[in-house]
Parts: sequence; structure tokens; C-alpha cells
Amino acid sequence: MIEIDGAAGEGGGQLLRTSLALSMCTGQPFSMNRIRAGRAKPGLMRQHLGCVIAAAEISGAQVQGAELNSQSLSFAPGKPRAGDYRFHLGTAGSCGLLLQTLWPALMMANGPSRLSLGGGTHNPAAPPFHFLARSYAPLLARLGAKAELNLLRMGFYPAGGGEIEARIWPAADQLEPFDLIARGAPGASYAECHAPALPRAVARRELEHLGEALGWTADQLRVAATRQHEGPGNALLATLEHEQVCEVFTRFGVKGLTAETVAQELARDVRAYLDSDAALGPYLADQWALPLALAVWRRDQPAQYTCTELTAHARSNFGVIGQFLPVRFSAAPLGAGWRVKAEPA
Ligand code: ATP
Repeated sequence: MIEIDGAAGEGGGQLLRTSLALSMCTGQPFSMNRIRAGRAKPGLMRQHLGCVIAAAEISGAQVQGAELNSQSLSFAPGKPRAGDYRFHLGTAGSCGLLLQTLWPALMMANGPSRLSLGGGTHNPAAPPFHFLARSYAPLLARLGAKAELNLLRMGFYPAGGGEIEARIWPAADQLEPFDLIARGAPGASYAECHAPALPRAVARRELEHLGEALGWTADQLRVAATRQHEGPGNALLATLEHEQVCEVFTRFGVKGLTAETVAQELARDVRAYLDSDAALGPYLADQWALPLALAVWRRDQPAQYTCTELTAHARSNFGVIGQFLPVRFSAAPLGAGWRVKAEPA
């Protein structure tokens, strides 16, 4: 039984999700104490519990402590089973974080799977759908893990009600680690505003301010079409394509925040990335570690990447990954960013 300290490092929900994912991939049971001790309301919130329940279902796990607010959990998985699954979180809990919990196990399963996930598709402090589809999924595909993601309906905090569908194909024998050192030549860069159930003028104002801040032209600024029963919500996204990687930065409009402020915050994220040479931005830097470590483990080959920032999320993730897989992460400063190595231990 691997013992994970939920208070270690970042002390948030990611420690739990990484543990669930790697426990299912490796068949090793784990117990976790002090779950989310680093947060104002510690323990399992609804969205974390949703991840535990979904992980237990796809792996036939024996679970103790799967209750709201629980601060300890034990999880003993069986073999993940490919199949058609539907998990609806019922609130604006992040579909993206749930998907990232289940994806590694399903790509190691022995057949294709289809997931229908309901909840928030564009949440603050979680990977939005467009980030997963444009940034994360293509990197996993290069690793050998093919998936198809569809956004059926957008869901925002606090109402939720969004839905995404994911098809995941088995990849255990194809995984091949690769280095991601330079982002390569720039491709398209564009911004879009998804503001369903709000006046289109709101979206246009945010985009105009962003265009001014970044010197982007009108053809790079798009008000996204909306579908019925979406929103209300307001997500401003900037997508930066490069030869080796695509980054998507997102900021949310909320009541009391001016369009100009939202645009300026997003412009700051974009500039920070463009001012650096590193391949990955701050979010990919922590999320890339898990799939890369699986490939390093399967092939017994090292791999590295560069990133603009090494957040507490990234460092904590390296630590938990090392408890499940014989893979050692190390990081060294490189220019204004970092070079991260993942090596067989
Ligand atoms: P908490 O315990 O704080 O409630 P949580 O379960 O919501 O935590 P965290 O542990 O904070 O989750 O992890 C959030 C994850 O979401 C991290 O992997 C982070 O990289 C990712 N993330 C946050 N914001 C973005 C964003 N704008 N784009 C992409 N990914 C993001």
C-alpha cells in the first residue's frame, strides 16, 4: 500500500487525482491522509469525490473513505476496464480534471473507451475544454495515445450543465517518450470569447482590449458562436500555435471585473509565454509530467522538456509520480525558465 501525504507540497486536489490515475495504471493500491490539507476547506469536495467514484467504477476498486469532506481515503484498484461510461458531476465540477484522472487508465486498458462527462467545461483553476483539445490531447497523441474530444455543451461556474465526450484508444504498447525543448516556429495565434447568454458587446469589448494590448488584428479576434442552453459564462481564450506545441491561455469574466481587466490579465499570460523560449507554459508544465512519466516508465528511456515556470503544482506532481513509478524528475534553471528531466530510476 503506497502512503500518500495529501498535505505534501501543494496540498490540493491534484495529489489525489494523480494518485488515482497512477494507482489504476500500475495496479498499486494507495492510502491518502490529510487530503487537501493545504486548502481552506480540506477533504473531498464534490468534484474530488466524483473523481474517486468514477475511478472506482472503471477499475472495480475497493474504496474506503469515499465521502464528502473525508480527509482520508484508501483505494485498491482492479484492472481498468475499457467501455462506455457516463459520469455527470451534477455541479460545475471540472469535466477536464475528471477526464485527466481517467484518461491515463483508459489509455492503458485493452480496448477503446467512450466517456460522457458532465459538469463545468470552462472552470477557473482547471484545464478548460479548449486547452485539453488543442494543447494537451495533441501532445498525448505524439506520445502514442490517441483520443478524440468533443464539446457538446459549455458549462461554467457556478451552474455547470456542460458536457464533453471523449474517445480514448488503447496505447500501452505504443507509448514513446520524446523531448520537448523548443516550441518551434510560430503558427497562428488568435483569441476568442465564449460568452453564452451575455450580450455580444461584452465579448467584443474584451476582444478589442486584448487586440490592443497584444497588437493583434481584427481577423485574430473571434466572438464564438453559442449553442442553446449554454451559460451564462464568459471565457476569454488566447491560442498560440507553434510547430511543436500549442498553448491556450484562459481568463474568465466575472461580475465586477471590467472587460479591460480581463483582457489585460490574459495579455499578461500571453506575454509571459512569448517573452520566454521555453516550450511549455505553467499549466502544461505540471500536467505533462504524468503522461510523460508513463512513457518513460514503459520504454525505460529518459525524456525532458522546458517550461516557463515551475509551479508548486508541478513540483508536487513530480513527488507523487515518483511514489508510483520508477521515474525520477529533476529540474534546473534554463534562461528565464526551467529544464525538466524525467529519467528511469
Ligand atoms: P483544490 O484542492 O485547490 O480545490 P483542485 O482539485 O481544483 O484543487 P488543483 O490541485 O489546484 O486542483 O489542480 C488544478 C489543475 O488545473 C492543475 O493541474 C493546473 O495546471 C490546472 N489548471 C489551472 N488553471 C488552468 C488553466 N487556466 N489552463 C489549464 N490548466 C489549468
